[in-house]
Amino acid sequence: MNLSYWEQQSWLTDIDYTIIGSGIVGLNAALHLRSKFPKARVLILERGFLPNGASTKNAGFACFGSLSEILDDLENQSEEIVVNLVRKRLAGLEPLRQTVRDQHMDYHVWGGYEFFAEEDEGSQAYCISRMPEVNELLKPIFHEDVFTTRGNKFSFKKIKEPLIYNKFEGQINTGKMMETLLHKVYSAGVKILNNVEVDNFSDKNGLVEVNTDKFRMFTKKLLIASNGFASKFGIQGVKPARAQVLVTKPIQDLKIKGTFHMDKGFYYFRNIEDRILFGGGRNLDLKGEETTEMVQTDLIQNRLEDLLRNTILPNTPFEIDQRWSGIMGVGDTKAPMLKSISANVVCGVRLGGMGVAIGSLTGRELAELATGHD
Ligand SMILES: Cc1cc2nc3c(=O)[nH]c(=O)nc-3n(C[C@H](O)[C@H](O)[C@H](O)COP(=O)(O)OP(=O)(O)OC[C@H]3O[C@@H](n4cnc5c(N)ncnc54)[C@H](O)[C@@H]3O)c2cc1C
Repeated sequence: MNLSYWEQQSWLTDIDYTIIGSGIVGLNAALHLRSKFPKARVLILERGFLPNGASTKNAGFACFGSLSEILDDLENQSEEIVVNLVRKRLAGLEPLRQTVRDQHMDYHVWGGYEFFAEEDEGSQAYCISRMPEVNELLKPIFHEDVFTTRGNKFSFKKIKEPLIYNKFEGQINTGKMMETLLHKVYSAGVKILNNVEVDNFSDKNGLVEVNTDKFRMFTKKLLIASNGFASKFGIQGVKPARAQVLVTKPIQDLKIKGTFHMDKGFYYFRNIEDRILFGGGRNLDLKGEETTEMVQTDLIQNRLEDLLRNTILPNTPFEIDQRWSGIMGVGDTKAPMLKSISANVVCGVRLGGMGVAIGSLTGRELAELATGHD
C-alpha cells in the first residue's frame, strides 16, 4: 500500500514506542509511557477492528484464586510463592480501579463461590479440610478468613454441599472497562491503528523495523503485548488457549448473583444483571483448544448448555443469546512472561486466566522494562 506523505509523517514517523496489541496490557503500557514521557510518540498496532484476543472477550471475574486453585498451586510451589501470587493479583486490581474507576466498569464485590459435582465428593472434602490452613496463610493479606462455607441457596442440582464462599471476589463489566481504557489512551494522545497485523520485526542499528500486512515502519522501542499470539514472533513458553463462552437472554427473577467456579475452575459463571454468562470446558479437549482460531465447538458448547440446564438452572427456562470465544496465553507457570527479546524489543505476555487482576500492573511493568532507567 502506498501511503501519502501526510499519512507517513503524521502517523508513522519518529515513533518512540510501538506496542503490538491493544488488550489490557498494551493499553496500560501505553498509558504508563505517556505519563512518564508526555512528549513521547506512542503507537499501538492492533490486528482487530476491536481488541481481538482476550481483553474484550473475558468473563470479568476480578478474582485472585479459588480455594481448589490455591491448593493446587501449593502442591507445586512453595507457600511463599503462592502467597505472593495472591498478593500480586489483589494488588494488581488497584491500578485498574484507579485508572478506570469502579463506576465506569460496574465493579462489584458480590463474592465468589466454588462448588463440586456430587461425584467429586473427595475434592470437596479435601478443600474444606484444608480451608483453615489456607485462611491462615492468607491472613497477612486479608486480615480475616477469606474462605467460609455456605448452603446451596441457589438451588443448584447434582452438587455437593456446602459451597465454598469467598467474600472478597468481585466482578466487572468487561466491555465498559475496555471502552474506558481505550478512551483514556486516545485522550492521552496515543494513536491506535486497527486492522494492522504485525508480521515480523528486526532490531538493528538502534531502531526496530516493523513489518505489517499494510506497511513497514521504524520505531525506537517495540513492546510486544500480543499475549496468546506471542509464538508468532518466536517467543517460546507461551501457548494459545481458547476459552469458549455463552450468555443467556435475560431470566426473570434470577437469584444467582456473584461469581462461581465449578470443577476446579474448568467451568465458571456469573450474572450479568439478569443474564448468566457461562464459560469453560477446555478440559474436554485441551489439545484441540490450543489454538488461535476464534470459533466454538459443539463438544464444549453442548456441555455448557447441559450443565446450565441440569445443574445451574435446573428449574428455570432459559434461552442462549450469544456464544463466542477468546484466546488466552498460557504456559508452564502462572506468572506473566516479562522479558527483553533484544536491545530494543521487550514482551509482556502469558497473562493466563487472571488478566483482569494482573493486566494493568503487567502493562506498567512492560513499559518500565522498555524504558529501563530513562
Ligand atoms: C473467554 C475468556 C474468559 C476469561 N475470563 C477471565 C476472567 O474472568 N478474569 C480474568 O482475570 N481473566 C479472564 N480471562 C483472561 C484475560 O482476559 C486475559 O488474561 C487478559 O485479557 C490478557 O490481556 P492481554 O492484553 O495480555 O492480551 P489480549 O487481550 O489477548 O491482547 C492481545 C492483543 O494483541 C493483538 N494481536 C495479537 N497478535 C497481533 C499481531 N501480530 N499484530 C497486531 N495485533 C496483534 C490481539 O488482537 C489482541 O487484541 C479470560 C479470557 C477469555 C478468553
